[in-house]
Amino acid sequence: MDRFLEGRTALVTGSTSGIGLGIAELYAKAGAKVMLNGFGKPEDIAAARASVGKLMGVAEAPYSAADLSKPDQTRQMVKDCEAQLGACDILVNNAGIQFVAPIDEFPDDKFDAIIAINFTSNFHAIKAALPGMKARGWGRIINIASAHGLVASPFKVAYVSAKHAVVGMTKTVAVEVAKTQITCNAICPGFVRTPLAEKQVHDLAVQHKVTDQVALEELLLVHQPSKRWVEVDDVAQMALYLTGPGSGSVNGSALSIDGGWVAG
Ligand code: NAD
Repeated sequence: MDRFLEGRTALVTGSTSGIGLGIAELYAKAGAKVMLNGFGKPEDIAAARASVGKLMGVAEAPYSAADLSKPDQTRQMVKDCEAQLGACDILVNNAGIQFVAPIDEFPDDKFDAIIAINFTSNFHAIKAALPGMKARGWGRIINIASAHGLVASPFKVAYVSAKHAVVGMTKTVAVEVAKTQITCNAICPGFVRTPLAEKQVHDLAVQHKVTDQVALEELLLVHQPSKRWVEVDDVAQMALYLTGPGSGSVNGSALSIDGGWVAG
């Protein structure tokens, strides 16, 4: 694989599983030094650090345990990345949670948590990382939004609101940095095969008393014309493209990777 990220550093939030881990592994394969972040069982975090570390040629990748619902911990995570890797050239705001309920039954604490983790943490991380990117004259900010950053579905008021806000913040940052060698883009996946999405399929199957496969094709992917999961590696390849040669004029975009969902 072309190691065009040799000499670059990356911080990928929520990279102990799913999409974030896939992005971290691909960046490390392309030569970047990567800091991981996220929750999980100690053995799963250790496994993620070992697998990304191996691709970096070290025993374990650096890791921040920052809770991104906490602004001070989010800022400290960026500082730790700069201290341990020497820079934060690429910031991927990926950490996210989900909760599904009608708005009149939506628990306040769940709403606040989704806004804090899926949206507000992006603001604090970008604010903390931008001065270093400006000083070094290069940077890439990639916000993992969602098809739900562009269109709504019922019962996801916090998630849809947070992801639309992420797309709005992406555009604002992009126009602020437009004259520099820094870019800020959002990736808007449809349903990606990860623990977060597979749990939704199972919850739907239980709720509607159908099999997981029927829930997948007829309930979850009802708006995804491909009727197939987007794979983690597809999203990781898009995140890699945004850091690579030829990506410098892609700025402020909300890039769909959703099997045709928002085209429909
Ligand atoms: P996942 O559950 O596998 O990963 C989420 C990550 O976020 C984990 O590492 C988790 O530990 C971390 N995290 C959760 N709360 C955190 C907190 N308070 N502080 C720090 N880390 C925290 O889910 P995923 O599907 O890989 O989701 C990654 C991103 O992609 C999310 O922003 C999600 O909204 C988005 N997304 C997912 C899909 C999908 O279908 N899976 C589709 C569109 C967008």
